[in-house]
Amino acid sequence: MSTTYDLVVIGAGPGGYVAAIRAAQLGLRTAIVEREHLGGICLNWGCIPTKAMLRSAEVYHLMQRAGEFGLIAGTPKADLAAIVARSRKVAGQLNAGVGHLLKKNKVHTVMGTAMIPAPGRVRVSNGGKSEEFAARNILIATGARARELPGVEADGELVWTYKHALQPLRMPKRLLVIGSGAIGIEFASFYNALGAEVTVVEVLDRILPVEDAEIAALARKAFEKQGMTILEKSMVKTIRRGKGKATAHIETGGKISKQDFDTVISAVGIVGNTEGLGLEHLGIRVETTHIVTDPYCRTGIGGIFAIGDVAGPPWLAHKASHEGVMVAELIAGTADVHPIRPEQIAGCTYCTPQIASGGLTEAAACASAREIRVGRFPFIGNGKAIALGETEGLIKTLFDAATGELLGAHMIGAEVTELIQGYVIGRQLETTELELMHTVFPHPTLSEMMHESVLDAYGRAIHF
Ligand SMILES: Cc1cc2nc3c(=O)[nH]c(=O)nc-3n(C[C@H](O)[C@H](O)[C@H](O)COP(=O)(O)OP(=O)(O)OC[C@H]3O[C@@H](n4cnc5c(N)ncnc54)[C@H](O)[C@@H]3O)c2cc1C
Repeated sequence: MSTTYDLVVIGAGPGGYVAAIRAAQLGLRTAIVEREHLGGICLNWGCIPTKAMLRSAEVYHLMQRAGEFGLIAGTPKADLAAIVARSRKVAGQLNAGVGHLLKKNKVHTVMGTAMIPAPGRVRVSNGGKSEEFAARNILIATGARARELPGVEADGELVWTYKHALQPLRMPKRLLVIGSGAIGIEFASFYNALGAEVTVVEVLDRILPVEDAEIAALARKAFEKQGMTILEKSMVKTIRRGKGKATAHIETGGKISKQDFDTVISAVGIVGNTEGLGLEHLGIRVETTHIVTDPYCRTGIGGIFAIGDVAGPPWLAHKASHEGVMVAELIAGTADVHPIRPEQIAGCTYCTPQIASGGLTEAAACASAREIRVGRFPFIGNGKAIALGETEGLIKTLFDAATGELLGAHMIGAEVTELIQGYVIGRQLETTELELMHTVFPHPTLSEMMHESVLDAYGRAIHF
């Protein structure tokens, strides 16, 4: 135990590595421990490789529509192995980039599995060897893994988790996706675009359950138009595994149907990586597989913090990174450190059409007993959307009728994952309808629909 670190970070995902870099920038002597890949799930098995694969699906889809744009492209073909190879290459590039950034910022990187034998100490084991570090502060950023449904455990053959779906050994022909959160829907969208016959089963009353109900209904309509089968209020009771086939027993409205699939993707949520860290003897509380923290990510045990997926929802990379910066600044004594407000965090799903949202849904806004104003603007009314050939979609805004506060924004359509940040900034600056109306939006852009949606909430939309 030679060096005493100001901060030892456990886990080098977007929470941990960002925290380590910020801590080092602030002059803290920092080490980071990672047992598998720098960049965590996000860069290696989550956000980035899925987006690389979805981009291939998007280009493939556009190639199939080439004639619409006056182009002759022949019959396009999807090469799954090449698509996966590109996705892995993109992940590899970013993984190496994280290593470079940590080195540049003089963060000591240790590969191995960490645990906390006592406050102020981190033990790292690797290949039978173990090393101990003294740490004034410890940050647990160990992330999460796929939740498994009893009886539907992944085997990599018939039943896949996201990891198998990101490096498939074959192209599924009949695919069952269990769970319709962002992860399930993105894989459903990808494999559907490549030609699989896709069925999505969701136990709740609608797909994309955290999204605004109107947007979720539009998404369902769009997916069904693309050929997907969507079963809401339905539950996969069992999966019988046969030779090259999984027979799913699916209950809908009290009736059980038996359906055969060659592949099942289980996307029913995640569980925090809390095991093996020594949390029990430290007295750190874990509830529903997540470490309990206060708004500053403190665990209640002096000098031990937890961030990102292991510390609970929303399970998003940008939430993890932002918490990482906050903790580093808190430890360094930076002025003006603010806790994260979960309602300010936007969520994006990169299916076709894309979905993005922030703030309250219409149902939640109504339930808050406020009077609200709702604005809507469809893609079909926007010049740029028509020029792009992307006329499917809607932008919806919600305002407090009394104060004009922008309560929420919900979008479906091309590139909305890039647009949502405009409203996020607005909400962060506590904007009102008047400021948004007075803002000049460039033409021709999809962003003009954001303006029109605000105008519509007050009966002033121009183009629809
Ligand atoms: C398929 C998929 C797609 C996704 N797409 C998006 C998206 O588009 N946008 C978005 O915001 N989020 C997305 N997510 C979620 C996102 O990946 C996570 O929210 C994010 O990775 C959480 O970051 P983290 O730092 O908390 O944990 P992780 O990224 O999980 O990193 C934790 C790290 O800790 C390491 N570790 C664990 N235990 C130990 C230990 N004892 N010792 C040493 N190291 C340890 C792990 O190996 C891992 O590298 C997606 C997730 C999946 C699965």
